[in-house]
Amino acid sequence: DNFVVLKNVCKRFGDNTVIGNLDLEIKKGSLVTLLGPSGCGKTTVLRLVAGLEKPTSGQIFIDGEDVTNTSIQQRDICMVFQSYALFPHLSLYDNVGYGLKMLKLPAAEIKQRVDDALKLVDLSGMGDRFVDQISGGQQQRIALARALVLKPKVLLFDEPLSNLDANLRRSMRETIRDLQQRFNITSLYVTHDQTEAFAVSDTVIVMKDGEIMQQGSPDDLYKTPSSMFMANFMGDANIFTGHFDGEQLNINGYCIPADPDVVQGKSEGDYQIGIRPEAILLTSEGEASQQCIVNNVVYMGSMYEVAVTWHDQELLLQLNSSQFDANLSDHAYLTINPTGIFLLPF
Ligand code: ADP
Ligand code: MG
Repeated sequence: DNFVVLKNVCKRFGDNTVIGNLDLEIKKGSLVTLLGPSGCGKTTVLRLVAGLEKPTSGQIFIDGEDVTNTSIQQRDICMVFQSYALFPHLSLYDNVGYGLKMLKLPAAEIKQRVDDALKLVDLSGMGDRFVDQISGGQQQRIALARALVLKPKVLLFDEPLSNLDANLRRSMRETIRDLQQRFNITSLYVTHDQTEAFAVSDTVIVMKDGEIMQQGSPDDLYKTPSSMFMANFMGDANIFTGHFDGEQLNINGYCIPADPDVVQGKSEGDYQIGIRPEAILLTSEGEASQQCIVNNVVYMGSMYEVAVTWHDQELLLQLNSSQFDANLSDHAYLTINPTGIFLLPF
């Protein structure tokens, strides 16, 4: 049920290898996100899938068909851009209906489909306006409607929310996720923003320098990063050296029962052990090995960020207000939640 498949795709511009041997699969109806820093090759992958670039080597399949050498017109794909790319001289109605008019569909069908699309993005009755008479968020909705109205086989999104402020970004990513799921549109989404990637995706593919670092569900990536790069890219992590004896994890003499998911496939031995900031609690009692000193407390509104020293190493904790007790400052003991840990080999 893989609907879009890239096999061993390589893209060079002159001597510059931008994409090196990329394998990528998107299941029918799912949304896959390419997440990575600017310049890592995300837009290039989208342009390869769209047919705007030809791979230097490798193959691209859509719906079972080898499209490697077909043009953009033959691929039935729509792209939504950061810049919206709307026509300023056309009404919103004509912007949304543009592609249908090019297909020479009957006027009545065009009207029906444009009206439906405007309704989907909550802009019913705005068809007569022009692009400069609506807000940036509304422009992005029109760009989305213009793509949806064509019912493409694959929808591509290139950093579609980058020009919106934080509140609009949040509501637009909900809209995109909702429509994508409601209509089961196979989608490839590109962003450099980890929060956005987690919010909209079934699967996230993390890219760096044109290569895939790791892919999986947001939960997989956060809980079981495959490398130190991934561990830090997915959020804050406290890194310790520790030992796994097959049943327990020993960190600085503090023994924690190993969670089966955390140690799955791991043999006994020494590891770099990562602990997420929200997986540590402070208590007033404990073993000597758990004793720590609270150095700094920052109130963040929704939580406290607490820095402690434990066995000469500094840790960062995130505690919600019900978990934080201001009286603990002097003699605190930390407790680690076994599920908030990951293991990396040396
Ligand atoms: P991203 O979208 O992740 O920011 P891009 O795919 O736009 O990254 O670019 C990846 C790299 O490929 C960059 O180093 C960029 O300069 C290079 N690149 C992209 N398109 C071209 C092109 N048409 N000609 C030459 N180099 C290009
Ligand atoms: Mg880009």
